[in-house]
Amino acid sequence: MVLVGLGEEFDAESGLRQMPGYGPGKEILLDAGSGSLLPAWQELFRGEAGISVSAELGILAGLLEGKNYFVVSVSVNGEIADTPWRSGRLVMPCGSALSVQCDGSCERNLNKAEQTQRRMLQGQLRQWREKVLLGEGGRGPEGLGICPVCGKRMEFNNVYCPHYDENGYLQDWNNYMKWLQGTLNRKLVVLELGVGMQFPSVIRFPFEKAAYFNNQARFYRVHEKLYQITEELGAKGAGIAKNAIDWLQNLC
Ligand SMILES: [Zn+2]
Repeated sequence: MVLVGLGEEFDAESGLRQMPGYGPGKEILLDAGSGSLLPAWQELFRGEAGISVSAELGILAGLLEGKNYFVVSVSVNGEIADTPWRSGRLVMPCGSALSVQCDGSCERNLNKAEQTQRRMLQGQLRQWREKVLLGEGGRGPEGLGICPVCGKRMEFNNVYCPHYDENGYLQDWNNYMKWLQGTLNRKLVVLELGVGMQFPSVIRFPFEKAAYFNNQARFYRVHEKLYQITEELGAKGAGIAKNAIDWLQNLC
């Protein structure tokens, strides 16, 4: 069985931070309570820089084919959801920009983001960036508008939303928990890719625990900087000091 964790390195932020407007815009989004737009903000810059991780994710999915695996992601990159994983074997507890929720959690909650809506927002963010570059980003872009039912703000369903509706991933999470219980006395490879310390309680700590309590486990942590593994796990695997995207590129 293979337990896979995908982390912040899949947001490819290291390539975005150098781009004009990215950092200041991100700061305003988070300060203004519009953080749920962050995955879309990243998408805009990735698109313009021609940065994509879908080929690397495809390599990973190919290697996992035929294995009994589960993928947990704290990255909010929508390309992860678009990867051809085994059906029902992905959970994204931090959400993404693929579905929309109402901040008032009313009956309008949790719809798939429509293509036109996403395109419209990309245009809006592109225009807003002009203001950010002039130092006039103000209180953030307009965003996804107002809920037609309760009048609260519409947000993307992710962890940066002021009132994150966790029902967006709950079913997948329950499936993951059941799957994880089934690994206890089985041969298990834990593959932690590009997971930093932003949400350590989702992947890093529980993955260490899963490997620690399983006598037949192997544990591999791939990360540009945070690749170190504990002494107890040292005998079971290795920490690999490499960016997870680069590491996947060089696998095949
Ligand atoms: Zn509402």
